[in-house]
Amino acid sequence: MAAKRTILWFRKGLRVHDNPALVKACEGASAVQPVFVLDPWFIKPERVGANRLRFLLESLTDLDASLRARGSSLLVLHGDPARVIPAALEAWRCDRLCYEFDTEPYAQKRDASVNEAARALGVEVHAPVSHTLWDLDRLLAKCPRGEPPTAYASFLKIAHGVGPVPPVAPDVPSITPLSDGDALSDGKDLVDALRDVVTGSGIPSLERLGYEPIKAGEGFPARGGETEGLARLRKMLARTTYIAEFKKPQTNPTELWTPVLGKEGKVKGAPPANPFEAAKKSSKEPKSTQLAEAFMAPATTALSPYLKFGCVSPRTFWHELRAVLDVELGGKHSKPPESLEGQLLWREFYYLAGYGTPNYDRMAGNRICRQIPWTWDEERLAAWEESRTGFPWIDACMMQLKQEGWMHHLARHAVACFLTRGDLFVHWEAGAAVFDRELVDADWALNNGNWMWLSCSCFFYQYFRVYGPVSFGKKYDKEGAYIRKYLPQLKDMPAKYIYEPWTAPIEVQRKAGCVVGVDYPAPIVDHAVASKECIEKIAAAYNAHKNGTAGSIVAAGKKRK
Ligand code: FAD
Repeated sequence: MAAKRTILWFRKGLRVHDNPALVKACEGASAVQPVFVLDPWFIKPERVGANRLRFLLESLTDLDASLRARGSSLLVLHGDPARVIPAALEAWRCDRLCYEFDTEPYAQKRDASVNEAARALGVEVHAPVSHTLWDLDRLLAKCPRGEPPTAYASFLKIAHGVGPVPPVAPDVPSITPLSDGDALSDGKDLVDALRDVVTGSGIPSLERLGYEPIKAGEGFPARGGETEGLARLRKMLARTTYIAEFKKPQTNPTELWTPVLGKEGKVKGAPPANPFEAAKKSSKEPKSTQLAEAFMAPATTALSPYLKFGCVSPRTFWHELRAVLDVELGGKHSKPPESLEGQLLWREFYYLAGYGTPNYDRMAGNRICRQIPWTWDEERLAAWEESRTGFPWIDACMMQLKQEGWMHHLARHAVACFLTRGDLFVHWEAGAAVFDRELVDADWALNNGNWMWLSCSCFFYQYFRVYGPVSFGKKYDKEGAYIRKYLPQLKDMPAKYIYEPWTAPIEVQRKAGCVVGVDYPAPIVDHAVASKECIEKIAAAYNAHKNGTAGSIVAAGKKRK
């Protein structure tokens, strides 16, 4: 068999560990060129928030360093991937293309067009699965009528039916770059050969992409990339008690990112800029080995952005977690759906639902989605998005999203319920679009699936169980430290009023330097009234669904462009 000249196309899967596409690319290859195509269509502040973009750029820088350690490097090209990849295959005279299989509709369409162009050039295409635990086509084949289940328990049965999670791919210690002994002798030439389809190359800065820079110490609190992601995974796995006891509904959504020390300990108090300094000041007198392991973390793992971009392989996470659960903990630990293992299975559950459901990201034409007469009320949507609802707990969560691009799962529950079935009756698609722009971990399958869940459009149907926009956060954080951090205008409000400042006597509001209606908005709705109205409307929609009279519903107002 003749040696292959291969393009290894990175999209997600920004890692060198457990990367079957990388393994395949190197198999019998004379040369391999790793490429990432930065599509200017995506890179706009109205589509992708600065936190996610910074995370991506950090991840590309880290990937480049890992490839360099293997004798190669990452070539970042700017342009439309559907044009750039076929052009590169031709110009660089490649006969093989390898990439990680992607189940999202946008990617499926793009990849189908690239595959067709590759075939026309006589190029072999390999797209192994490694973004999910299992090959979703194998799971789909086990689903009755090929339709993914909308209940977790049914999903588990299907997953168990396909056998264990496949093992991770072996490491690749060295990669022969395309430029070796080649007519296209350096990176510049490779780019020059594509001058008709690329608008630039290299890893740009946020500013060069038209974004405001994020100040040091601000934004998402951890660095992007495989190196950081694996380090965080392994430090988390060393906390065996944490893992054994992990029950998602019992984790605290108001817990700020704080330094975690060594095996288990957490430094008390407000999160400092530097966890090592905090560790030194801690009364626990941590040992130097613990200091070396200190990292900032919230109540859950915060590995979602690393999984989203594939900096951490879900199979690596799964197998290393299972080793701790089975070997170190001897099977004594929390269980799915609440356990950590259960969280990875939720991820798989939504991936399968997204893969096997046409129009999964919208209400219209979506077989699993209840038809509910939501509105596109722009005023309400903007108040929610801009932390102006007048409910400090909701506004603080949305401010964390805006500033850091991340929120705890239950904070996501609170704001999603509030926007849709809880209070404002705004379409879940509008909320999902805001999350899709702002979240560092924005993930098509998980985001749309969870929005359907929270709006009682699918998966969860107890629409009469509404989160209180006052009581929910208070349960976890009586003093309101979380609100004070994200809404500094309320920082001096007495704890008694911090969740309902409009109930504070005017003298108290003045003394706290925050007068409702002047320094902070009055509540956008009366929760008791609004939630009752929402429940009635959803009850009517559910009845129509039951009677088969739901038809397709057009939401009131105009959808945002
Ligand atoms: P952990 O609790 O540590 O869980 C580990 C991993 O399991 C997560 O990183 C994630 O990959 C997976 N996981 C955990 N919870 C869920 C869940 N409910 N559904 C699917 N997978 C899960 N998560 C995203 O990654 N991207 C999104 O765009 C996203 N949008 C959401 C929108 C709404 C309205 C809601 C309610 C949840 C959304 N989630 C999304 C799911 C969940 O909130 C996050 O995955 C989780 O909070 C990330 O934090 P973590 O990594 O600390 O989670």
